[in-house]
Amino acid sequence: MAVQVTFLGTGDAFSSGGRHQAGYLVHDGTTSVLLDAGSSTLGSMKQQGIDPATVDLVLISHLHGDHFSGLPFLFLEYIFEHKRQRPLRIAGPPGTEERVWALFRAVYRDVASEPLPFAVHFTEMAPGAPISFDAVHVDPFRVPHQEKDISLAFRVSVAGRTILYSGDTGWTETLVEQSHGTDLFICECCSFETRMSMHLDYPRLAENRSRFGTKRMILTHLGHEMQARRSEVEIEMATDGLTVDL
Ligand SMILES: [Zn+2]
Repeated sequence: MAVQVTFLGTGDAFSSGGRHQAGYLVHDGTTSVLLDAGSSTLGSMKQQGIDPATVDLVLISHLHGDHFSGLPFLFLEYIFEHKRQRPLRIAGPPGTEERVWALFRAVYRDVASEPLPFAVHFTEMAPGAPISFDAVHVDPFRVPHQEKDISLAFRVSVAGRTILYSGDTGWTETLVEQSHGTDLFICECCSFETRMSMHLDYPRLAENRSRFGTKRMILTHLGHEMQARRSEVEIEMATDGLTVDL
């Protein structure tokens, strides 16, 4: 195993089909990177037998609750259950640090008023500005999902493998360009028959499937239409707990 990806949460904001909200753990035996942290990411880790203490770096695609509202529960875990001492790194779009602390204060005001026993190092990622976190290289780019706030997708390279993660996005040719040379494309696919400007639908992805230059494409962030019409879907669909070796 060079790199393993565990799908912790493959549902949309409504947890359609009983799926957890967004969360994907990428690990190479040395470093663990969590891509997004939906509300129940901690619970999903425990379901999958993954030790939450192993997370080194969290990459947040955008500041919607189904992608970052699990962070306060990770903090609680590290304060009370695992007593973390080593720093935690969190990187996300502009505004991440302020929004994460505001969220923590909103849901656990008493705990958030005390200093954390571990350092949290925030990095705000600018679209188009590649950045490295030790052995993890990230190429973030903006995708059409929100008008004011910035939503990111990113290519994540670790241990010689490259993963493209779409975050939440409407259709953009940039996904085709960025998919080239990747080992895995984790691509959101909210809907089937409903076409939206801020999310992807299955027919659009299916008609473009041959243009994506990735070794393996897996659909995630699956809404109720995708659950209902899954027998018609010919691209691989994720399930919570799916593990992929790259
Ligand atoms: Zn979402």
